[in-house]
Amino acid sequence: MGEEVNFGGASPPNNRGHRLATVAGGTSRRRRRSKRQMATQMLLRHATVISMTGSDPSTADVLVEDGTITRVAAEIRAPGDARVVELEGKYLLPGLIDAHCHITISGGLIADELSLDPRTRILRAAHNAAMTLRAGITTIRDTCGLDDSDILLRDAIHAGILTGPRIIACGRMITMTGGHGWFYGQEVDGADAVRRAVRERVKARADWVKFMASGGFGEEGEQPAASQLDLDELTAGVREARKAGRRTCAHAHGAASIKHALQAGIDTIEHASFLDQEAIDLLRNRGAFIVPTFSIYHKMREAGPGLHLLPYLVELVNRSWDAKVASFIEAYRAGIPIAAGSDNGSPVAPHPDIATELELFVGFGLSPYEALRTATTNAARLLDLGDTIGTIEPGKRADMVALSQDPLRDIAAVRMVSTVVQNGRCYEPGMTGAAQDASSVAV
Ligand SMILES: [Zn+2]
Repeated sequence: MGEEVNFGGASPPNNRGHRLATVAGGTSRRRRRSKRQMATQMLLRHATVISMTGSDPSTADVLVEDGTITRVAAEIRAPGDARVVELEGKYLLPGLIDAHCHITISGGLIADELSLDPRTRILRAAHNAAMTLRAGITTIRDTCGLDDSDILLRDAIHAGILTGPRIIACGRMITMTGGHGWFYGQEVDGADAVRRAVRERVKARADWVKFMASGGFGEEGEQPAASQLDLDELTAGVREARKAGRRTCAHAHGAASIKHALQAGIDTIEHASFLDQEAIDLLRNRGAFIVPTFSIYHKMREAGPGLHLLPYLVELVNRSWDAKVASFIEAYRAGIPIAAGSDNGSPVAPHPDIATELELFVGFGLSPYEALRTATTNAARLLDLGDTIGTIEPGKRADMVALSQDPLRDIAAVRMVSTVVQNGRCYEPGMTGAAQDASSVAV
């Protein structure tokens, strides 16, 4: 029997694959096991498969065995006890990846989120995770979880006691005293202190380590482009993280902070708002990714000053927008790898939504296919999971999303999710209706 799980229901304890060590090399082991034991099989039939491997979309069947894609071909005969999922008229994509979001906050003002009882926050986080999966987002990187509860949530989903995407968790991020996000991060100063903080992150079982290399769009008077953690601090932090096999990301808006981060060996630059030629050259030489997170700034501009945003913040975002767009277009033309990140959870950006980011990319000149790459193959490579997720082909984990319209014709189709498959489990239509965002849930 295939597995069908309702959102919100208890899941069977076989949700594997969030840990890099678990994911890497796990496929052949599972395939061997499946030959000895009865394999769990599922056949997805008659979808237009947009595999993201570079081959043209075509109508095909996809066979899944024990959570792994084993065949993609026209008209596969359903094995005897396979569950068959009919997807005629649907467009089947690899599961979407949000490379930058915050699952433990829900889109309210940070001050309000921080004032919540942590128990409430974690309930909301579980709700956010379920909603995220429902939107076809099968993997996220949480780039700063309050109280490290993104790490707890990762493990609960991995154990199968909660429904949600595969979570790559940073836990709390590392910032300088009074630096961006100091009220929810770990404040440290000097290379030794950064080193110790990284060791604490590793001890807390974070998958990645996040550093604040610049100011941001937060407190009044803050300068987004100003450098924060210094080169020696970032260098010490990255070295320590690497020793423990952890990858690193840096929040960096200004060119100087971006260069510091890259010189320190950071793997991904978050926001990357104000690039200069030297920063672009350095990005190219280091093979680093940028995760621009346009959608959060777009939503701040749309919301305007009001209940959730103070006028200074909206004014600052408006003032920065054109330069940020121009930087992005330069980086795109220079071939810098780009991954989609929503920054959801931040003020005015409740979960889930990766569609706005992809729509903005298309508005800036990417083709719908290129935009989809930022949330599939590129994001998978960013996460060092390129061998495991990001395409529909034999050997990959069965993370897929079926859409009711063609996203290559109109990228907005990524909002029209009908069926989600994650790790071989199928989340059927009928569970995709509107639901509250957690910021409005009064628990
Ligand atoms: Zn963020």
